[in-house]
Amino acid sequence: MQHRRRGTVLDLRRENRAVVLSSLYFSRPSGRQDLSAVSGLSVTSVANVVRDLLDEGIVTEVGWENSDGGRPRVLLDIDPDYGYVIGVDISETRIRVGLFDLAMTERAKAVYPLNPAQHEVDEVVKNIASGLTAVLAEGGIDPAAVLGVGIGVPGIVEQDPEVLVHCQAYRWDAVPLERLLREHTALPLRVENGTRTMGQAEMWFGAGRGTRKTAVVLIGSGVGASLISQCGTCQGTVSRATEWGHTVVVVDGRRCRCGSAGCLEAYVGAEAILDRYGSPAVAPAGGEESMLAELIAAADSSPAANAVLAKTAEYLGVGIGSLINLFNPERVIVGGWAGLLLGGRLLPAIRESARRNSLRHLFAGASIELGQVGPEAVTYGAATLPMQDFLNGASRPPLRNRPASIGLQS
Ligand SMILES: [Zn+2]
Repeated sequence: MQHRRRGTVLDLRRENRAVVLSSLYFSRPSGRQDLSAVSGLSVTSVANVVRDLLDEGIVTEVGWENSDGGRPRVLLDIDPDYGYVIGVDISETRIRVGLFDLAMTERAKAVYPLNPAQHEVDEVVKNIASGLTAVLAEGGIDPAAVLGVGIGVPGIVEQDPEVLVHCQAYRWDAVPLERLLREHTALPLRVENGTRTMGQAEMWFGAGRGTRKTAVVLIGSGVGASLISQCGTCQGTVSRATEWGHTVVVVDGRRCRCGSAGCLEAYVGAEAILDRYGSPAVAPAGGEESMLAELIAAADSSPAANAVLAKTAEYLGVGIGSLINLFNPERVIVGGWAGLLLGGRLLPAIRESARRNSLRHLFAGASIELGQVGPEAVTYGAATLPMQDFLNGASRPPLRNRPASIGLQS
């Protein structure tokens, strides 16, 4: 019995710590009173946790805040240099690796172009390994200070018992990505679907903040969506990736990279839009972005470009209308590099098409907005995976900070 009671006290301390750390992270900087109000914990409990966090060097005192009529209060913040996180985005056209401090400021990056038609696993693994080395060198960061690496991948990710990636468009069939990377790095790794990592970035820092039920749509060369809702039994949110891009919108339609025909992706993915416009079949590496930007710029003077974009908005509205009908989200966020480019011009037309292609009552409860985190939201979101583990207390401190580094104030 005594053992169980001790366990409960420890659990409570761990829980309080996670709640205070997360509350501070999302309302930085804050005083102890504010943290108490945000977290729902007593000021005494908050003060106990904060004392530990100060001792460990995770939190620092950064100044004073004048309270109405009372004594000035100490403001607390997370020390951005306590540790670092790395995000990796494996997209159709490139691999991007970003190194971030705990304030999510990007400190170094590395980009490796990929041929959209070729995603050899060995090449991808080699580029990620090179990228990890490159960003640590550019940022001047000791690997022992890194909390972990998050990797956003296309396709379906199985987590148990081993991380396996299935991506039909690249002929990735049960690719053991984590195991393959393990030969190159000892850093903690988290592999997740890229639309989910982008979704987490928008929920934490962008257009999803404050929403309870959200669909996040990623449009790049390919197309995907994740669905995010408040967790009923835990703090935070739960999300799941979908293969929305491979839902059929036209019977006997255009061939899709997945092998099927008529998929949404075969109409609204950047590669498909350029193909429908008659752009060269093989874009130069990394060239799809400039080609799509040119197409959009040409739409004012070119009826052909305008027609392709109008049809794209129509199809996107059909797809988003289905998401609204199926999932009843309060917000649909359109992101991804192509989504942001297209949305700048087409958002009103996309909304109008979604209105016509969903049920009135459900559409009335949903807003359709552009992502706010920017075109690198997948990298950014991937880096939030190890960050989330850190806030929840699920990850160990960075190697250099073990054992407890009392008094380390950077
Ligand atoms: Zn498909």
